[in-house]
Amino acid sequence: MNIPASKNPRVVIVGGGFAGISMVKQLANKPVQVVLIDKHNYHTFQPLLYQVSSSGLEPDSIAYPLRKIIKKQKNTFFRLAEVNNINHEARVVQTSIGEIAYDYLVIATGTKTNFFGNKAIESNSMPMKTVPQALNIRSLILQNFEKAAITNDKEAREALLNFVIVGGGPTGVELAGAIAELKNNILPRDYHDLNASDMQIHLLEGSARVLPPMSKQASEKSEKFLKALGVKVHCNTFVKDYDGLKVTTNTDLKLESETVIWAAGVTGSPVSGLQEGTVVERANRYLVNQYNQVQGYDTIFALGDIALMKTEAYPKGHPQVAQPAIQQGKLLGKNILKLIEGKPMKKFEYHDKGSMATIGRNKAVVDLKAYKFGGFFAWFVWMFVHLMSLVGFRNRVIVFFNWTYNYINFDKAARLIIRPFHKSK
Ligand SMILES: Cc1cc2nc3c(=O)[nH]c(=O)nc-3n(C[C@H](O)[C@H](O)[C@H](O)COP(=O)(O)OP(=O)(O)OC[C@H]3O[C@@H](n4cnc5c(N)ncnc54)[C@H](O)[C@@H]3O)c2cc1C
Repeated sequence: MNIPASKNPRVVIVGGGFAGISMVKQLANKPVQVVLIDKHNYHTFQPLLYQVSSSGLEPDSIAYPLRKIIKKQKNTFFRLAEVNNINHEARVVQTSIGEIAYDYLVIATGTKTNFFGNKAIESNSMPMKTVPQALNIRSLILQNFEKAAITNDKEAREALLNFVIVGGGPTGVELAGAIAELKNNILPRDYHDLNASDMQIHLLEGSARVLPPMSKQASEKSEKFLKALGVKVHCNTFVKDYDGLKVTTNTDLKLESETVIWAAGVTGSPVSGLQEGTVVERANRYLVNQYNQVQGYDTIFALGDIALMKTEAYPKGHPQVAQPAIQQGKLLGKNILKLIEGKPMKKFEYHDKGSMATIGRNKAVVDLKAYKFGGFFAWFVWMFVHLMSLVGFRNRVIVFFNWTYNYINFDKAARLIIRPFHKSK
């Protein structure tokens, strides 16, 4: 891997997501050698992926080069590689570009889409976990519009204009709202030869209400906002099968759609090689203690979505959202230096800053500890928080400009089929 030898201990961090980069920044120019490995050369701001899928933002405004993040850190090296295995006896990780030795290993590999073992759904539906996947959805939506415009067959046209989103969590709700904006604002202007009312957006949620992790108040408000945008919300409904056209559910709801977007859940993406029992089944997350040490190992840590830390307040682990990842990364950066110096480490405690979701161009719901609210002001808060959380000044300026432009013009400027999506048949 061509990493120079160093007199300082080497910390290998796998994954440049929220957790990984938060830790990397903490170790800037400290007496350790840091090697960051990621299979992508950029950090993805996943909370705004749905805006790429729905043509609201260009992908490069939510992605940020990892090398740019570490450019001022002389003690830090980046390698573009996929980590395949850990050999702790030899203290090395095996990657797609060779092996690298570590003194301390940090696994921050996040999650992947969970299809719950259903192969038909996996091969026919569209996941939205990475930038290329979001671009696939963008292309497919626009390609469907183009096909619908030249189709005389009513049923075929309806299937092209039927969009089914599975999973009524924040991702599904936000995406449904954004696709409804396409229907309400773009379709009538760009595709005057199509009837916008032929386009249907269905949001399917397995539990009794949308946004199940948020308050009841937030669920009710967001359902009301979605319905006002024309989204058909189906609760207590889960998809049993999808063959690329027919959607079968547990209820008598049957839909025909060329596009099913799968936002129904995630599962951890651990790396193989550690002893049995370190990865908790079903969740697929590493069991860690309050110092983020993987059970049974003193020098291997897991952070963020991939880490399952059971505490009194969070007996099932922390929510798989950005804040626990950022906070854990920051603390582990400090703790590793303490460990090296032989000082006691500090236990992790999660500070919940609240949760939020946006629905369409000017509505959102926000749950804070003491206060819950929804509507226009909530949307303003949502925009501010997301803008400030984006990595890089350039990205913040571009996103701010795009949002302002889109808001004033009721537009979504990135309606481009750059790389056509080909459905596997
Ligand atoms: C569509 C979507 C919307 C979301 N919206 C919100 C939101 O609004 N608010 C919120 O708080 N959270 C949201 N989340 C969740 C949030 O993005 C995650 O909780 C957060 O990204 C977790 O950070 P992480 O560092 O643990 O993992 P990630 O950010 O997923 O980073 C993992 C990194 O590891 C790399 N990697 C994985 N495996 C390997 C390997 N074997 N070798 C090398 N590299 C590897 C990946 O390329 C990636 O860069 C959303 C997630 C999604 C998918």
